[in-house]
Amino acid sequence: MCGIIGYNGKENAIPIVISGLKNLEYRGYDSSGIAYFINKKIKIIKEKGRIKNLEENLTNDISNLCIGHTRWATHGKPSKINSHPHHVNHITIVHNGIIENYNILKEDLIKKGYEFKSETDTEVACALIDYLYTKTKDKLQTLNELKNYLKGSYALLILFDDDIDTLYAIRKGSPLIVAESETGNFVASDIPAILDYTKKYYLLEEDEFAVIKSDNIVFYKDGKEITKELLTFEHDIKSAKKDGYSHFMLKEIHEQPVVIKNFLDYYLNNMNLIPDLSHYKKIHIVACGSAYHAGLIATFLIEKYGDMEVSTFVASEYRYKKNFINSDTVVILISQSGETADTIASLRLAKEFNAHTIGIVNVVGSTIAREASEVIYINAGCEIAVATTKAYTLQVLALSLFAFKLGIVKKNISQEEQSNIIKEYQKLPLEIEKVLKVNYKEYAKKIYKHKSVFFIGRLIDYCICEEGSLKLKEISYIHSETYPAGELKHGTISLIEENTPVIAVVTDKNIADKTVSNIKEVKARGAYTLVLKNKNLKLDKEIYNDIIEISDLKDLALAILAIVPLQMIAFEVANMLGYDIDKPRNLAKSVTVE
Ligand code: GLU
Repeated sequence: MCGIIGYNGKENAIPIVISGLKNLEYRGYDSSGIAYFINKKIKIIKEKGRIKNLEENLTNDISNLCIGHTRWATHGKPSKINSHPHHVNHITIVHNGIIENYNILKEDLIKKGYEFKSETDTEVACALIDYLYTKTKDKLQTLNELKNYLKGSYALLILFDDDIDTLYAIRKGSPLIVAESETGNFVASDIPAILDYTKKYYLLEEDEFAVIKSDNIVFYKDGKEITKELLTFEHDIKSAKKDGYSHFMLKEIHEQPVVIKNFLDYYLNNMNLIPDLSHYKKIHIVACGSAYHAGLIATFLIEKYGDMEVSTFVASEYRYKKNFINSDTVVILISQSGETADTIASLRLAKEFNAHTIGIVNVVGSTIAREASEVIYINAGCEIAVATTKAYTLQVLALSLFAFKLGIVKKNISQEEQSNIIKEYQKLPLEIEKVLKVNYKEYAKKIYKHKSVFFIGRLIDYCICEEGSLKLKEISYIHSETYPAGELKHGTISLIEENTPVIAVVTDKNIADKTVSNIKEVKARGAYTLVLKNKNLKLDKEIYNDIIEISDLKDLALAILAIVPLQMIAFEVANMLGYDIDKPRNLAKSVTVE
């Protein structure tokens, strides 16, 4: 959500910052802007909409220090005036996050004589910094005091008019990395912004700040200088590039066989690294969006193989309800970025009640990775498309291994079954490759002109539908709803008209007959039915218009295979509609606000 980049070095900072912003576009944004010093004066250029609008307003200026921002509006509509950078008196800032107490601060600052041009919380933070700096006349003291005033989350890059060679960065709640290269230093929201120049970076942690000169970086916490470990980005740089694919989403869908194989090769040989959930009385899974759907699937798998009760919650609800958490509870938190605000808050809540916490995350060193008692990295590499695909399947796979391990520990899975299950897991990469060879345009053609689509399935198939439906909504903007197949006739079937697309998932043979009856019900009312099913399941031709068949893997692996056709259908539908698939409107990749 929102992208920040700053550069201070020997090169012209302006094109570096613009290209960095482009590499952060995947995070989602509605406006962009930059600020730099030219002839010792600050210059701000900002525009509503895409970065190309900003580029149209650039001049031939050369500056060695520049900060840039892509805004995902939270306070005030997307507009030029609300775009960042904001400038108040001596101070210029860009900001990611939300200043929760901005109203009280604003009233106070107005009394002190400040005037505000925008509706943003950011401009208030900017004025506050100016006020503190005017009072203390000390930059480090100002940054140090900031946390005493600001409530909420912020990653801030700050320029002082009287210090044109220095870039200041501070964070709380929203992510920032600081990086160094041969030609200069960087600060950014995420690694893709800097990968064209360097792989060496530092993680800025809560309440730390960095003073970044062109040739050195000094870190501070609580007013004292600190030393930090220089990290190296281990993934292939290619994972942040399109690599010949038309879209990041398509590339990431096709990367699934490889990342799944890598994950399995590692963890099936190191099952001791998979947490043993049998130590706990209660299992809670907490996540948002697709990660929540991964959690829903895990509910069924863990209950079945581990013979334990599991509850899966949406993080933005979990943090506000009574949860009966105690030291016998394990709380599993799933987040691709590891920075999802509601999931972080749920993690902190679980820790307050002494629960054991396990993070399932992709981004190494992210907040959830650092704060959870244990972490499982899914190692998906950079996921750039806003709509998650490979990170989602790896989340399901990680949770599936939790269920598998629990089954082994609790002796619910025999030795023989164990080796069969391992073989099934190992078939996954090849089976996904087969599924990716299907021509999904054929099905997309029958869907893309419709206003509404319905997904139906039972139990795990229902959870798979939830994710398939979300993919479609996210990138094609077609209204889509998921129903447990038996539930449709309790109301929503009234919406089925001639040719309304209904996508049914039938992979669970124990319940297939029941779902088939529900498919018949909608087909009888004129629906176009597209059925995704196992090869071995025999279906009467009458009940479907189109059929997609996948192999008969066991449920621990099948839940991963079954989503791939639905990802591809969503992609092809959005492609036919000509939408900006990697950067869907209103959406952000990592939701760092509540
Ligand atoms: N809350 C700020 C605004 O609405 C920052 C949003 C962002 O993170 O992009 O301008």
